[in-house]
Order: sequence, then structure tokens, then C-alpha cells
Amino acid sequence: MTIFSKIIAGEIPCYKIAENADFFAFLDINPLAKGHVLVVPKQEIDYIFDLDNETLREMMIFSKQVAKAIKKAIPCKRIGVAVLGLEVPHAHIHLIPITKESDLLFNKKRQKLTSDEFKVIATSISVHFE
Ligand code: AMP
Repeated sequence: MTIFSKIIAGEIPCYKIAENADFFAFLDINPLAKGHVLVVPKQEIDYIFDLDNETLREMMIFSKQVAKAIKKAIPCKRIGVAVLGLEVPHAHIHLIPITKESDLLFNKKRQKLTSDEFKVIATSISVHFE
């Protein structure tokens, strides 16, 4: 079981944003920016391009819903989209608020936020999810 499956199962805590029957969204614990969200399929597959077409399509549509909610909650120009998967072997899409190109550099220093800050951010995004 991957760490993300444990999060989805509620065995490991997270700052949840939204979920539906097939996907789950929560805050990245080492965010590049406030409002950095991960979208994960409940199906445990390592590599995103091994997902079947229908799941991949639905994952992008779910990500769009989440991105719209992030955009309403966090001041930014765009929601950047990235897929790395070098750390956790469970497909996931990074959604990151950006105002400039360098906001999407994964080798930059991650932000340290308190639990209260994570909670406020998660609520501010999730209230806009529709
Ligand atoms: P990558 O697999 O390279 O896309 O990176 C995995 C991402 O998952 C990193 O940005 C981590 O900060 C994030 N991450 C790892 N464990 C957790 C966790 N328990 N809760 C939230 N985010 C996590």
C-alpha cells in the first residue's frame, strides 16, 4: 500500500481538499507554494501514463475542478500543472499556484507551514470546490 493509499484510506492524516468516487485531492505537505495540491487516483497505479484512458481523462477533469477552487482561494496568475512521481510510486498530479515561471521549479526550497496554516488553506480551497 502506498503512502497515498493510506491517506485515502484515512490511515495517515492529510489536509483534504476534495474527493469523488475515483479521485482524492489534498495539500502537499512540503509545498512549493501555499495551495500546492496533489490529485491522486484511488486506484493504486505508479505511473500516470499507465492509467487507462477513461481514468486519465477523468483525473484531468477532476484536477480542473480542484484548480478552479485553488484559483479562487489563492492569489496567483495560473495554476501550474506538473507530474513527476519520482518520490511516491502512486500516480499524482501537482497543482501549484504560480505567478512566474520560477514558481514551478521543483528544486527550490519548499515552504514550511504550521498545521493551522495548512488547515486554513485547505478550508479556503475546499469551500470553492464544486
Ligand atoms: P513526486 O513523487 O516526485 O511527485 O513527489 C511526491 C510529493 O508528495 C512531494 O511533493 C511530497 O512533498 C509529497 N508528499 C509526500 N508524502 C506526503 C504526505 N504524507 N502528505 C502530503 N504530501 C506528501
